[in-house]
Amino acid sequence: MKLIFEMGQKGRGCDLLPDCTTPVVDPGSFARKRVLHLPEVSETECSRHYTELAGQTHGVNDGFYPLGSCTMKYNPKINEAAASLEGFAGIHPLQAEKDVQGCLEVMKTVERDLCEITGMDAMTLQPAAGAHGEFTGLLLIKAYHKSRGDEKRKKIIVPDSAHGTNPASAAMAGFDIVNIASDEHGCVDLEKLQEAVGEDTAGLMLTNPNTVGLFDPNIGEITRIVHEAGGLCYYDGANLNAIMGITRPGDMGFDVMHLNLHKTFSTPHGGGGPGSGPVGCKQFLAKFLPGIRVTEGSDGLQEERADETVGNVRSFGSNFLVVVKACAYLLTLGKEGIPEASSNAVLNANYMMHRLKPYYTMAYDHVCMHEFVMTLEKVKHERNVSALDIAKALLDHGIHPPTMYFPLIVHEALMIEPTETESRETLDEAVQIFLDVLKQSEETPEDMHSYPLTTPVRRLDEVAAARKPVIRYTWE
Ligand SMILES: *Cc1c(COP(=O)(O)O)cnc(C)c1O
Repeated sequence: MKLIFEMGQKGRGCDLLPDCTTPVVDPGSFARKRVLHLPEVSETECSRHYTELAGQTHGVNDGFYPLGSCTMKYNPKINEAAASLEGFAGIHPLQAEKDVQGCLEVMKTVERDLCEITGMDAMTLQPAAGAHGEFTGLLLIKAYHKSRGDEKRKKIIVPDSAHGTNPASAAMAGFDIVNIASDEHGCVDLEKLQEAVGEDTAGLMLTNPNTVGLFDPNIGEITRIVHEAGGLCYYDGANLNAIMGITRPGDMGFDVMHLNLHKTFSTPHGGGGPGSGPVGCKQFLAKFLPGIRVTEGSDGLQEERADETVGNVRSFGSNFLVVVKACAYLLTLGKEGIPEASSNAVLNANYMMHRLKPYYTMAYDHVCMHEFVMTLEKVKHERNVSALDIAKALLDHGIHPPTMYFPLIVHEALMIEPTETESRETLDEAVQIFLDVLKQSEETPEDMHSYPLTTPVRRLDEVAAARKPVIRYTWE
């Protein structure tokens, strides 16, 4: 496929722009020194170019995309429409409170509903991503111990089934990390936890459901052990898909947590776009929160800052349009739709797991939450076909592969997250494709290294793409 710069002819274009109504000023020394190269194409060429470009990739409108809540959850288009409304998209962050009452109302609504869903008492919408939320939550834990003069608490306990950002955020926030290995079910080992806690424990960070898709059955015991040792409990709620409207971290004994609006609440994750990682906490930590709280004042809604705030973690109140999408999502699904989305996510994952289980090896053979992990270790050992080979072969059958080589504690891992909105027929088709590909790997194992054959690009040099990215077109 040609780049748009390589199409068209000099002087061609489609100027549909109205005459300029603002005075033209001489930019003086700020004027560019070189000619501005723009593609010179007709309207039809331009439109065809982007249509062709869109056809080069696989999206949720093309077929099954089992990256679930983590990336490709159901994100209704109407929420995008809400976020494009002029009154939301056209505001300036320094506008007077009285002019942005509707926007403050959106923030207040989202804060209120997320507190209700998580069982927390207060929430900041300021953090811009999940990891940023973790960092913020850890600052609250730090501020809490400091406010009590308990400064020997320098350690954060992180189970090895946690998301990789957990230990990274704890290190960023200045804590030492104590890693504890999971038990044979992939859950927290209570004995090891009991041994790890002590007078230097600042807290525990738990991803639940954990990265292998399991809900820890000892969750109440875990938070009790940490609290008894004087630590606080942090809940990584990036993927709330499996539990929202069903059970609440606040009721499990957690003190502080984050959510990823760009996963669970209607903004796609992974496209490099804006995110939002609100942090919720129990009342005793609320005075440390960064950002603004929206409260009722005498002249309407107003912005307030917490008394002993840890300070802003970024500029302004939030990545606001992401919050608008979450608001639209919460209000359209409502208190019936939110738990229904969770139930269907869990049902779909268990259905697929159950159907694949006789043929593929499950890393943990338990009832799963919104995702499950298979291990291709045996296949790799027996016929030198890796998880990567299987994933790439799926592409030729018109579905997107699942997450590969994650979580790290499972070798040759494929992690499948079907979304809550997939029908039984779609799941059955996907299962059949997984079975067909496995059969291919038995019959012609040596061919498996060359797939995909039908996609616009075949196997890419991923290391070079990450290390030496070419992201700018250079003119001769
Ligand atoms: C995605 C994810 C994160 C990190 O979120 P980012 O927005 O990518 O920083 C943290 N924890 C879990 C469990 C996640 O799935």
